[in-house]
Amino acid sequence: MSYIKHLDPLVLKAIRDELKRQKENLELIASENFVSPAVLEAQGSVLTNKYAEGYPKKRWYGGCRYIDEVEALAIERAKKLFGAEHVNVQAHSGTQANMAVYFACLNIGDTILAMDLSCGGHLTHGHPHNFSGMFYKVVTYGVDKEKETLDYDEILDLAKRYRPKLILAGASAYPREIDFGQFRRICDKVGAYLFVDMAHIAGLVAAGMHMSPVPYADFVTSTTHKTLRGPRGGFIICKKEFAKKIDNLIFPGIQGGPLMHVIAAKAVAFKEAMSQDFKRYQRQVVKNAKELARGLSQYDFRIVSGGTDTHLILVDLTKKGISGAKASFVLEEAGITVNKNLIPFDKQSPSITSGIRLGTPAVTTRGMKEPQMQEIAYFINEVINSADNLKKLKKIKKEVLDLTKRFPLYSELKG
Ligand SMILES: *Cc1c(COP(=O)(O)O)cnc(C)c1O
Repeated sequence: MSYIKHLDPLVLKAIRDELKRQKENLELIASENFVSPAVLEAQGSVLTNKYAEGYPKKRWYGGCRYIDEVEALAIERAKKLFGAEHVNVQAHSGTQANMAVYFACLNIGDTILAMDLSCGGHLTHGHPHNFSGMFYKVVTYGVDKEKETLDYDEILDLAKRYRPKLILAGASAYPREIDFGQFRRICDKVGAYLFVDMAHIAGLVAAGMHMSPVPYADFVTSTTHKTLRGPRGGFIICKKEFAKKIDNLIFPGIQGGPLMHVIAAKAVAFKEAMSQDFKRYQRQVVKNAKELARGLSQYDFRIVSGGTDTHLILVDLTKKGISGAKASFVLEEAGITVNKNLIPFDKQSPSITSGIRLGTPAVTTRGMKEPQMQEIAYFINEVINSADNLKKLKKIKKEVLDLTKRFPLYSELKG
């Protein structure tokens, strides 16, 4: 970073501090990951200089020959990876991918059926402060009160009662496998579009560790930066019949020039995701999540739905007498990063919450396996039991540092 060092020491310092934080902390945020150096290189490349409004071979700018190669590679790889008929790789984020799908099949005021935020849904699935909640009538489904898993009969009942034009499946904080075949069956009964937002589980889907939504859904959206371990961004998969509509809605509908450096990084990430290494990695992500859930249960933490099928665990802290907000604060003091999170039927507000959400993608990228998950469960238990004991938190932070040092990250980059 020799150029930025001379020009802008303040920004350089913040970057270095952040690198140090990533190296030294235990990253348990379920939506985060560490990209490969190859992805970093692509995203940091001169492709950021190029305007390329339009699509490969149909651009509004000259000089797009090499840009076209990059975008075509990204599209072809994503199609192969997910068995898709059509892919748009230009969405700047998961939110913009979702916006394009809504605009493609709904009119303002139409009804959608989506998962309730407190049961795991995402802001773009109809939250009143998001465009999805402002533009459309939103009906929500939750989870079964006892099992804390999706109740497909209830979803069918709601669909019959409210006749939504579109049904959304997919979530940000649901630890169990989602049965997209059940959703297809429900959509067919009421004539609704099936829209699956696989942002969290795309890496698991690519590796065959979670049922793929692609054969069932009319539209599938995703981020590239969560389990899929690519750059921050989004993409859309759809059936051929909607290809033109989706492409026109991304550009010129809701975006201008594509971020070609990010699309290059997406192409690299899709290539990485086709490897045997990536399959092994995703298998370990799920094994680690199951082990972490088991470890925490042994310390008497209540795991929502009793466990996990994915990369993600939702922990109910009610009987530990600590809120999600306080728990995430003290865990950070000890070098462990998590989210506070609503749990199903939560009695606390979204800013306090009764739970925390944990995920294993990032620690698994560092090479951690089952024994380390037991260590992490031990740390979390110690922190929660010593939430008001600063000295104890400092001591645990040292032990966390010892663990992260044993699993180095970006050793080629200087902190
Ligand atoms: C993360 C996420 C998104 C949004 O992604 P951004 O890139 O942050 O806009 C959309 N849907 C779900 C289910 C998510 O988990």
